[in-house]
Amino acid sequence: MIGYTINVSSQEKEFYLQAGLLYDSQENIMLENRVIHVIGNKIQSIEDPEKIPVDAEVIDLGEYTVLPGLIDAHTHVLFSQEPQDDFTEESIATLVLENPALRTLRGAKSVKSYLDVGITSIKDLGNSGLFLDVALRDAINEGTVDGPRIFASGPIIGAPGGQLYGVSHEHQDLVGLEYRIITSVADAKNAVREHVNQKVDIIKICADNLPNNTRLTVDEMKAIVETAHSYDLTVTAHSVTNQSAWEAATAGVDGIEHGFNLADSTLALMAQKNIYLVPTENSRAYMHSYYKLSGSNPEELTWLNRYFENSKNRLLRAIKNGVPIVAGSDNYTDIRIPRGASSRDMFRAYYEAGMKPLDILQAATFVSAKHLNKENEIGILKPGSFADIIAVKGDLENDFLNTLENLAFVMKNGKIYLEKSN
Ligand SMILES: [Zn+2]
Repeated sequence: MIGYTINVSSQEKEFYLQAGLLYDSQENIMLENRVIHVIGNKIQSIEDPEKIPVDAEVIDLGEYTVLPGLIDAHTHVLFSQEPQDDFTEESIATLVLENPALRTLRGAKSVKSYLDVGITSIKDLGNSGLFLDVALRDAINEGTVDGPRIFASGPIIGAPGGQLYGVSHEHQDLVGLEYRIITSVADAKNAVREHVNQKVDIIKICADNLPNNTRLTVDEMKAIVETAHSYDLTVTAHSVTNQSAWEAATAGVDGIEHGFNLADSTLALMAQKNIYLVPTENSRAYMHSYYKLSGSNPEELTWLNRYFENSKNRLLRAIKNGVPIVAGSDNYTDIRIPRGASSRDMFRAYYEAGMKPLDILQAATFVSAKHLNKENEIGILKPGSFADIIAVKGDLENDFLNTLENLAFVMKNGKIYLEKSN
């Protein structure tokens, strides 16, 4: 072809990022005086500043702290409800009144907001129709839509009824449009194979279905775990009751989501089996916005204090027992801020609950990636990892929340999405 050349250099753009401080997420420490050499979408090396070639393109982040892109391990980007909405009614309205294409396009609009707050990867754990999360992931990966890396679960695998309570028997088919309902051990294995066939990245199950009084059996969960592990997929379990968490841990799941009522004995079992906890806490500010918008006066909700005490107590006991903590938001209610900003609330919540700043960062980077078997690719800055890099201005250890919100630079997959000058 005459007059047509492929510009290889533009595909393999090369930068040196000079960091004031660099967060080493594996060691959980800050390093001084480092330079990140990026070629294309990967980190080539971490070097001393004197190694920068004279004619190199340098991005000067010398006044900033540079971190791996953050990870939210529990999102539902294809579902949204108003604070006053009932979850079942809104789920059914979404299934019946919203074309799946429209639902996906709305999700596509909201995911951009994750990059705006420095979250460059999310684990999207269901409530996404029939594999719309997989479609959105692929659209982002091919560059059709801007958004974080998505690790998609497809429909949550659960017992009859799923999480949609009060649906009459003749309309249970609707539940099957949002959840993969299984009825036996053989069906459990088949559900995982169906998910593998649709190319999911992680398996999400509902160990319990509260307020529906149905749950998976230990044998069903064991079958799911064995099948998923044979395809190198991890399994994470929604669990509200202590009993379902104990049974899921016994069955060999890799993670527990929420775990609001975990007994010390269950936490000890989780620690022994290296099962992570995604605590999905909400901050005081989030809960106050939520209840104001839903028409209640949060000051009058005395149970809120018990809720915060209970969450905090559970999180600190988990840490004390040696359970790995992975950061996840689980925010899907429209509290009049972009979804990414709403997800970022988890940092405030964990901080309010007493976690230390660097430990929170590690839970949203290295530990999160490790429990997805991706610790060489994301949540870390090292040779061979993806160039998912952010920078903030301030003092993360002593002024954590303000500094985290003072975001100056976002790069995902070698592409710059935010670059603020001083
Ligand atoms: Zn959730």
